[in-house]
Amino acid sequence: IQQFTADAAHELRTPLAVARIAVESTLDAAIIAPETRNNLEIAQRQVRHLTCLAEDLLWLSRLEAKQLPVQFQPCCLNDLVSDLEEELAPLAMAHSIDLRLEILVKQPIYVMGDSDRLYRAIANLINNAIQYTSPNGVVTIRLESLERNAIVTIEDNGIGIDAADLPHIFDRFYRVQADRSRNTGGTGLGLAIVRAIVQAHHGSIQVDSQLDLGSTFTVNLPIKPTSSKISSHRIV
Ligand code: ADP
Repeated sequence: IQQFTADAAHELRTPLAVARIAVESTLDAAIIAPETRNNLEIAQRQVRHLTCLAEDLLWLSRLEAKQLPVQFQPCCLNDLVSDLEEELAPLAMAHSIDLRLEILVKQPIYVMGDSDRLYRAIANLINNAIQYTSPNGVVTIRLESLERNAIVTIEDNGIGIDAADLPHIFDRFYRVQADRSRNTGGTGLGLAIVRAIVQAHHGSIQVDSQLDLGSTFTVNLPIKPTSSKISSHRIV
C-alpha cells in the first residue's frame, strides 16, 4: 500500500502540472467571458489542491518508507524560528493575526537535523495556528530549553479542538468537522507529516487544546551534544 501510494502520487504530478499550466495560460489570455473565468478559477483552485495532496502523499509515504535520504546536520533553532516568523508575518497580517516570537534561551540552540524538513514541520504548525484563529487573535512561536531538550511551542487563541477529536488529529486525512476546515484548503495530511518529521528527528509532539479558547502544539527535540563532546568522541 505504501509503495502504491508513493507511485500513484508520483504519477499524478505530471498530468496535474500540465493541467495547471493549461488553466493558468488560458486565464492569462486576452478576453474571457466572466462565467468562463469563474469556471477556470474553480478548476485552478482544485488543481492546486490536488497538487498539494499529491506532494504531501508522496512526501509522507517516502518519509515512512525511509526512502528520503535524511541528512542530519547541526540546525540552529533560533535562526529557524526567526526565519519562520519573518516569512509567515505577511500571511498573519493578511488574516489580521498578531504573530509573536519569544526566544527564551540565552544561547543559540542546536539540534541535529534536516533543516528543510524541520522548517516545514514548524511552518505547518504556524500555518495551522493562523488558519484556525479568528481575526485579531494572537499566535505565539516560543523557543525554550529544558534539560537536554529544545522545546518549540506554537500557541494560538483560536477555535480550539474538541477533546473527542484530539487523539485523531495526527492521523492521515483526519480533519475536524470537514465543514469548518474546508475553506482553509488543507488536505488533512499536514499534522501527519509534522509528526513523521519530528519522530524522524527522535523528538515528540504534544497538543493541548480547548474548544473556543485555543491550542498549543509543543515539539520536543533532543539538543545536539556539545562540540567538545563530539570531538573527544571522534579522537577516541
Ligand atoms: P488540515 O489540512 O485540515 O489543516 P492538519 O493535519 O494540518 O490538516 O490538521 C488536522 C485538523 O486538526 C484540521 O482539520 C483542524 O481541524 C485541526 N487543527 C490543526 N491545527 C489546529 C489549530 N491550531 N487550531 C484548531 N484546529 C486545528
